[in-house]
Amino acid sequence: MKVCKRCRKKEADVILSAVRFCDSCFIEYFERQVQRAIDGEKLGVRMFSRDVRILMAVSGGKDSMTLWNVLDDLGYETCGLHIDLGIDEYSEASRAVVESFAASKNLDLIVVDLRKEFGKSLMELAVRDACSACGLVKRYLMNKVAYEEGFSVLATGHTLDDECATLLGNLTRWNLEFLQRQHPILESTHPKLVRKVKPLFRISDEETAVYARIKQLDFVREKCPLASGATSLSYKKALNELERRHPGLKKAFYLGFLKNKALFGEQEGFELKECEACGMPTANVGLCAFCKLLERSKRRHGEGEQN
Ligand SMILES: [Zn+2]
Ligand SMILES: [Zn+2]
Repeated sequence: MKVCKRCRKKEADVILSAVRFCDSCFIEYFERQVQRAIDGEKLGVRMFSRDVRILMAVSGGKDSMTLWNVLDDLGYETCGLHIDLGIDEYSEASRAVVESFAASKNLDLIVVDLRKEFGKSLMELAVRDACSACGLVKRYLMNKVAYEEGFSVLATGHTLDDECATLLGNLTRWNLEFLQRQHPILESTHPKLVRKVKPLFRISDEETAVYARIKQLDFVREKCPLASGATSLSYKKALNELERRHPGLKKAFYLGFLKNKALFGEQEGFELKECEACGMPTANVGLCAFCKLLERSKRRHGEGEQN
């Protein structure tokens, strides 16, 4: 019998590359990792304190459902935010997972229904590159809701694997601007831009899967039907292959980046403007990327302003 590394009593149920725990010790370890992230260890600044109400972006997938559950268990006050993109059964299933979780835990939830709010599903908004439009639409709406509802912080379920894949992508392309910006805490740089945090940045995808299993969390298992996601998936695969041979590599890669981030230089402070249509912050002059997308789809459907 393999014994739990922590309590040295119970049998180890959870055997991952870098850890060997019984279920209850695993949960303790997991929660401590999240707490350390929230408290700002290695970041120099706290993500949020106990008296702040957090807007939690929940897609219905494993990682965001895990984070929502951990934050609630750790005693933080949260409100979920789900964006229904109108992608057929996939969106229906995702929304159902999120709604039943909120109801079972008596948690507040805001649902933005793209079709109701803007008259169009994601596919109708973006005919060609729906996958990248999805990222844009979600980022825009999450920030807009957070700002309009008066939240000072928005939490997302990005994990160590997500951050490592992004980092590897930014490094292989030497995208200095993105390297300067990448961080588990994205500070607000405009009064209408809400601070974003990633409390799972110390936790791997494998670990959220174990957490979800132990806590018996319901989540949407199928991947989004639109997601090509090929690039980030292949980076994740490669990193997992390395992790298998060198346990702890992913964490060392990402924490090392945070420590040495200054090497990439300071992000140049550029001033954000406000969109002429919606008033939300944008780097563009005129319309923001979201309003441009709306405009284009209106033109395609012959709904241009005729009055
Ligand atoms: Zn144990
Ligand atoms: Zn706009």
